[in-house]
Amino acid sequence: MNKHLILCDKNRSVVVMDRFFYDRLLPLERNLVKPTPDLGPLESSKTSRQSCIFVPVGVAGEHWNKKALSTILKLQATEKMNYQTIIESVYQKVKATENVGELASYIPELAKVNPDSFAVHITSVDHQNYGVGDYDLKFSLQSISKVLTLSLAYSILGENLWERLGVEPSGTAFNSLSQLELDKGIPRNPFVNAGALVVCDILITQLQQPKVDFLSFCRHITGIKTLDYSARIVESERMVGYRNIALCHFIKSFGNIINDPDEVLDFYFNICSLEMSCSEMSKAFLFLATENFSTSFTERFLTSSQAKRINAIMQTCGFYDESGEFAFRVGLPGKSGVGGGIMAIHPNKYCIAVLSPKLNPKGNSYRGMKFLELFTTETQLSIF
Ligand code: GLN
Repeated sequence: MNKHLILCDKNRSVVVMDRFFYDRLLPLERNLVKPTPDLGPLESSKTSRQSCIFVPVGVAGEHWNKKALSTILKLQATEKMNYQTIIESVYQKVKATENVGELASYIPELAKVNPDSFAVHITSVDHQNYGVGDYDLKFSLQSISKVLTLSLAYSILGENLWERLGVEPSGTAFNSLSQLELDKGIPRNPFVNAGALVVCDILITQLQQPKVDFLSFCRHITGIKTLDYSARIVESERMVGYRNIALCHFIKSFGNIINDPDEVLDFYFNICSLEMSCSEMSKAFLFLATENFSTSFTERFLTSSQAKRINAIMQTCGFYDESGEFAFRVGLPGKSGVGGGIMAIHPNKYCIAVLSPKLNPKGNSYRGMKFLELFTTETQLSIF
C-alpha cells in the first residue's frame, strides 16, 4: 500500500502526505513539514487520490485540538483497515445464511461443480493478498473472460471498435436475441453474449492464430503461465450452444460477423472455458485497479482512457439486466460469469474475486453479490 506520513508544518497544521509525494519534495519544501513521530507513518489512505490533506490544529505549541485528532483517528482507521478481518467476518455471516440459487445446469459440465464452494480473494494495488475459503480452487471464468477479449480488441482497434458495438446497458438477459433485431445486429455492449461474439469475430480477423495468440496474451498480462482452456467445458457448451449459435448466425445476417460463424463460436466457447482460482483472478485483473493500469506482470497495454472506459462498461453492463442492482447494492465496477465467479475493482485500492457457483435468476452468483454488498458496506468503501 502507498505509505502516508502524518507531518506538521510550521503552523502546527497536520499534513497527511503521500510518501511518494513527500519523497519528491525539494529539500527546502521538506524543511517546511516535519514527521510527527508520535503518530508515526501510516499504511494506505483514504487520501490516496490526493497528495495531502491539511487540518488546522490551532496555534503553535498547543496540543492537538479535538477536531484534528478525530480526523486523524478516522484516517488511521481507514489506513489500518484490515481487509483480512473484514472478509473473514463477512464470509462467516454469508455462509451462515441459506445457500440458495441454481447451478448453470444449461451447460452440463457446470452442473457438476460443488454448489457449496465459497471463496474470496483480494489483491491490493500494492500487492498485499487477503483470502478466505477455497481461493485456490479453479473454476470456469465464463463471461468474466469477456473483459480479457474486450481488453485485447480495444488495445488493437482503439475507438474504431465502437463501430461494431455499443456501450449501453442492455436491460436484457446475457443471451437475449430480441434486442438485436431492433438494433440491426449491433450488440448493445461487449459483455452480453452477442457483443462478445462480435469481439471474438474482430479478434479472429486481427490475430494470426486466434486461440493460441489470445491465450498467450492472457498468460502474459495475468502472469498465470498455466492458464488454459478447458476442452471438457468447451465440448459441453458446444453440445448445447443453441442460443449462442442462433445469436452468431443472426448477427451474421446483419453483416456484423465477418468470419465463419463456426470459427467464431469455437473461439467464443474456448474463451469462456478459461479457468482461474479466486487468488489468480484478483491478481489477473489488478491492472484495471492500479493507478497507471500496469501491474508487476504487465506494462500498461491500454491507454488510461481505455482502461477507465472498460471499468465504466463493467459498472454499467457487467451484470447484464442486474447491473443497476449491482451498482446500487455493491457500488463497484465488476464482471460476473455463470461459473459463479464475480470480479470487482476498487480503483486505486484493490481487485476482489468471489466464487459461489449458485446463481440467481439473472445468472449472477447469489452469495457473491451478497458478500460484496456486505463487504462494501462494512468497509464503507465503494466508488460512490
Ligand atoms: N458461456 C456462457 C454462455 O455463453 C457465458 C454466459 C455467462 O457467463 N453469463 O452462455
